[in-house]
Amino acid sequence: TTTQPKATIQILMSDTGGGHRASANALRDAWNTLYPNQIECDIVDIYTEYGPVWPYNDYVRMYKLMAQYPWTWDLFFRFGSTPFGLWLNAFLLETICFQSFVTCLQQPDFITTKKRADMVVSVHPLCQDIALKILAYLDTNGATRDPQYRTTPFCTVVTDLGGAHPTWFHPQVDQCFVPSDALRQLALQRNLQPSQIVQHGLPIRQGFWNSPLSSTEQPSSTTTTSNTKAPRHTALGLHPELPTVLLVGGGDGMGGLVEMALSLQQELQDAQLVVICGNNRAAQETLQQHSAANNMVVRGFVSNMDEYMRAADVLVTKAGPGTIAEACICGLPCMLFAYLPGQEEGNIPFVEQGGFGAYCSDPKEIATTVRSWIADPQQLAVMQENAFKAARPQATLDIARDLAEIVFRHNEKKVDGGTGKGESSGVVEAS
Ligand code: UDP
Repeated sequence: TTTQPKATIQILMSDTGGGHRASANALRDAWNTLYPNQIECDIVDIYTEYGPVWPYNDYVRMYKLMAQYPWTWDLFFRFGSTPFGLWLNAFLLETICFQSFVTCLQQPDFITTKKRADMVVSVHPLCQDIALKILAYLDTNGATRDPQYRTTPFCTVVTDLGGAHPTWFHPQVDQCFVPSDALRQLALQRNLQPSQIVQHGLPIRQGFWNSPLSSTEQPSSTTTTSNTKAPRHTALGLHPELPTVLLVGGGDGMGGLVEMALSLQQELQDAQLVVICGNNRAAQETLQQHSAANNMVVRGFVSNMDEYMRAADVLVTKAGPGTIAEACICGLPCMLFAYLPGQEEGNIPFVEQGGFGAYCSDPKEIATTVRSWIADPQQLAVMQENAFKAARPQATLDIARDLAEIVFRHNEKKVDGGTGKGESSGVVEAS
């Protein structure tokens, strides 16, 4: 028999990029760790599963396509950030998707109950406005779509790091969890009250929650390569002694990976290069042909990124928020070689001002810079320390705890015959 959980939570997202589902899974894992069997969680790609027509039901493929031609994404992002773009998006979404999205929120995929979720959490920029309207509609039995009459708790967990699209921020949410000062400012600019904004960090996967490096292996004045990292290298089939450069292109393995890898391989004669191609099979196959001769190890999609990061000395990566946050937890200096215009642009100052890395688009220059970092243990140590300073290994558990408290309190009030309201700051009671 299944025991009834204390609360049910529906997480709204879409698989545009790997980060949204990764964050949703991380929150679910955190609830399972903190409150075993007490929270049942339904994670739904609302656009793919409930988008009634194109383009809504095809966002995932379109996003991948646009990421390959960043200027198209740039246009889309910029237009969508203008007042007219924001209005048009909200208008079309409500006109076209409202009814089918109502079904999504009305019939979540819980095992123990067929009822609506006690709380809805969004980890996607396009799941605020429409979801709040639907909750108002459901909470008032169809009387209004005005988000201020919503009673079901709703929170946003932003999964971008140094920059974010305006649609992430809606003043009618109970809480908006942001990972950085830059995003706190954006939230304030979008008229959220300081009391609505909570800053813990980015939710990331369980392997990164507790970094054994951060307490016992913090680098002193020399790099940790030769001594402490040797067992990690051996476990991953790497050379135990050599300094290690990790090259990652994001979950889908961005374009330019092959050129970057070959340039690094040429320059880094006294180090080993580990290239993680993610889902980019073409790059993996091409690079495998070059890997035998020199110190280059090529991997496809790996599920133990934390082990690779903890074994590395420098990370060369596209400016993905998840990857950067993970690197911080492992005290890994970052050389950024690409970014998606719009939301990833702000990740460059996050890294550069944090003092743990740089951005450069030229593969040759990147290779010489990385070599100079490795050749200068003192500089490397400073960057490692700065990365640790920017790390938020507790973020996932902190966010999960805050969300759980909101929904538990809400449910207690319901039982008490209270108003049944969430942690609303701006929510006005329907009369
Ligand atoms: N990742 C992984 N295995 C791989 C390649 C990437 O687990 O082989 C993970 C990486 O650790 C990170 C995520 O995929 O958590 C990529 O997220 P990010 O936000 O950096 O970029 P996105 O792919 O969402 O644009």
